Amino acid sequence: MSEKPRILTGDTPTGQLHLGHWVGSLENRVALIDDYECFFLIANMHAFTTRADQPEGIRRSTLDIVKDWIACGMDPEKSTFVVQTEIPGIAELTWYLAMLLPFNRVMRNPTLKSELEDKGLGDNYSFGFPMYSVGQCADILVFRPELVPVGEDQLAHIEPCREVARRFNQLYCKVDPHTEDDEYVKAGGLFPIPEGKVGRVARLIGTDGKHKMSKSLNNAIFLTDTFKQIKKKLGGLYTGRQTMDEPGDINNALFQYVRAFIRDEERVKELEEAYSKGDNIGDGHIKVEVAEHIDRLLEPMRARRAPYEGEQGDAKVLEILREHTRKANAAAEETLQLAKEAMGLDFGKRSLLFE
Ligand code: ATP
Ligand code: MG
Repeated sequence: MSEKPRILTGDTPTGQLHLGHWVGSLENRVALIDDYECFFLIANMHAFTTRADQPEGIRRSTLDIVKDWIACGMDPEKSTFVVQTEIPGIAELTWYLAMLLPFNRVMRNPTLKSELEDKGLGDNYSFGFPMYSVGQCADILVFRPELVPVGEDQLAHIEPCREVARRFNQLYCKVDPHTEDDEYVKAGGLFPIPEGKVGRVARLIGTDGKHKMSKSLNNAIFLTDTFKQIKKKLGGLYTGRQTMDEPGDINNALFQYVRAFIRDEERVKELEEAYSKGDNIGDGHIKVEVAEHIDRLLEPMRARRAPYEGEQGDAKVLEILREHTRKANAAAEETLQLAKEAMGLDFGKRSLLFE
């Protein structure tokens, strides 16, 4: 293993990445890329838990997310991109971990419940859907990271991951249950107890002004949006305010955007003061100002994305993914070998052939 501590985090290929991803997780990934050995996962198997009937969409989105990542500054020379379905060790570890997590514990996860609601899955969700929660523990633990940069909604998924890591270490590596979380590896455990790291904005609200911004809810500003599209989407953000001299609520959805994207504290304070007094300041004006700041944030992303546009860009992405899959499998296989030894499943050595 490299000297640096590891990071694992990732995205589900159910659409393109948006500003919620940026403030919730992507921004942290870019900031930490030099200090950590980074594994970034595309959870394409998990995309099938809700979209088994849309394989083409999942494939398209897998390639698009890599383009989004590169656009953001997640440099493929400095990190490893992981395609979940190409790492057999993840699926294998999912099984072993599933045995260590009580069924009712998995089903109690509040994020699973709200996803069922948000995505309108009702009672007809697949058996695989709640399995993704166990799978996510394996996604993380197979790379033995110390840090997992995620949005707030994902913290509820990290908790069972921490629980199952402790349990595995105690059961199969004979670590004393009283051990402090950060001492598990020193005490002979295989898995560090990973910590979630929430981004600068824990939960960015969508342009519907109600739900969290999400690819599945049609309320997102995408990293690929043009200035015109950004202005239009923000223009539709409802604040309930009627006139320029009506005192406004600086905790409304619009001001969440003001604080998230105008990175000039004095200007933010000025806007907050004028708005709360109703001092001749219109919502439309503020929306354009926010849109300009977002556009400036996206400008360098457009430039980094340009060489990856179109079919030729797809080919470049596939080349990167093939090379990275080898590195990711090497890391995952090392963990599987050690995990199986600890479990008394050391019946021989294997090596994966990936072409
Ligand atoms: P889906 O609608 O398919 O669930 P999503 O938009 O919620 O998609 P995910 O792939 O589930 O995106 O999330 C990827 C990462 O981005 C996670 O760490 C998640 O917490 C974070 N994230 C997603 N949306 C937001 C948001 N609105 N604010 C902050 N973080 C977010
Ligand atoms: Mg989500």
